[in-house]
Amino acid sequence: MKLVPWSQVKYWGCVRCGRCCRRTTVQLTTPEWLMLVKAYGYGIVEQNISGFYLKKTIDDHCPFLSKSITAWACRLQRRKPLACKLWPFRIRGDPRFGHEDEAHYKYRNQDFYVYAYPQCPGVVLGKPSKLFSHKVLPEFLNIRLGFQNSQIHSTSKLRPMPY
Ligand code: SF4
Ligand code: SF4
Repeated sequence: MKLVPWSQVKYWGCVRCGRCCRRTTVQLTTPEWLMLVKAYGYGIVEQNISGFYLKKTIDDHCPFLSKSITAWACRLQRRKPLACKLWPFRIRGDPRFGHEDEAHYKYRNQDFYVYAYPQCPGVVLGKPSKLFSHKVLPEFLNIRLGFQNSQIHSTSKLRPMPY
């Protein structure tokens, strides 16, 4: 999948299309796997030699994906795995996907290389807006670094679904 450096992204805002929760394998950290097993049982997860994962439904969806009349939503929310919270961005300590200068992002005195998956329809290409570079992106970095758990700018702005 081709990635674009963050400096080619004008803005990102989730439009709740649900694409990232269908036909996608979500990797879990060990604490996430434990927490989900405790809450929902072993049927919700699977593992192989590479690690722990959310087990997909027979429709190839994440088991926590649900649909209202107008949009898709995640039923996990505050328990959402880190991999889901960071989508559609890849935050790395090296410029593995190229565009070294354009992907470089200095944050908390550390050097990062940030890329986006343009397949996400919430990614709007162009010159980065202030909101994106000053609010949205730092929140993704904070979550990636473990400084923040809650999502404000890094999730859908639409009203959460009532569960
Ligand atoms: S993050 Fe992107 S792909 Fe996933 S639901 Fe939102 S807009 Fe769709
Ligand atoms: S846990 Fe939520 S965000 Fe992650 S794939 Fe499942 S429905 Fe999507």
